[in-house]
Amino acid sequence: MKYHKIPDETIRRLPIYLRGLLLSSEQGRQSISSRNLADFVGVNSWQIRKDFSYFGDFGTRGVGYNVEKLTKQIKKILKLDAAPKVALVGVGNLGSAVLAYPAFRICGFDIAAAFDINPKKIGKKINNIVVEDASKLRTLKKRRINLAIITVPRDAAQQTADALVKAGVRGILNFSPCYIVVPKKVKVITIDIAMDLARLPYYMPAS
Ligand code: NAD
Repeated sequence: MKYHKIPDETIRRLPIYLRGLLLSSEQGRQSISSRNLADFVGVNSWQIRKDFSYFGDFGTRGVGYNVEKLTKQIKKILKLDAAPKVALVGVGNLGSAVLAYPAFRICGFDIAAAFDINPKKIGKKINNIVVEDASKLRTLKKRRINLAIITVPRDAAQQTADALVKAGVRGILNFSPCYIVVPKKVKVITIDIAMDLARLPYYMPAS
């Protein structure tokens, strides 16, 4: 089954639903109504039903959605079912915090490698991952790691992205505060808490 027509906005909400489903599963639920899921994730139940209708209706009226089935389905759509391996480049303050973030594993990611250029960091173990020399980025292809997280200083971000692309990486989560240029075949998502914070006052009600 192919999922050509799922809008980006829905794809953006799927990981949020996944987190809600995993939480409800931890609480022993086998099924969940769109209303209950709405309480978990803060998206209204109408929107949830509409989003789920894009990839088939798993709900049963009066019973709700089967938590396990829906979890599997969302993981499949997001391509998380194969526990994708991820590399992190730049094991500084932010990189170390990211390595220690348990939610990656919950979502099915396996942070499989970490790289830095600082000789004091290379060889050290952080959260059970041995930091490797960034000159070894080219080994990623052989290790079938095609996702990466960039947490290097701004001036090193583009060269890091270039090296990652050369090593076969096709998805980059960029935390460096800059725009990085990559070929079309590579997807970059940039996250910057300062940019999100900068939008917040606009939405605040006048006091
Ligand atoms: P840091 O100085 O503590 O860590 C940077 C690490 O990158 C260091 O360990 C350094 O040795 C390593 N490094 C430098 N050049 C490298 C290269 N070419 N290859 C591999 N490793 C390299 O900095 P930090 O506080 O962890 O911040 C890291 C980045 O994240 C910065 O660009 C910062 O602006 C950004 N940041 C983003 C957010 C956000 O919301 N997106 C929040 C905080 C920091």
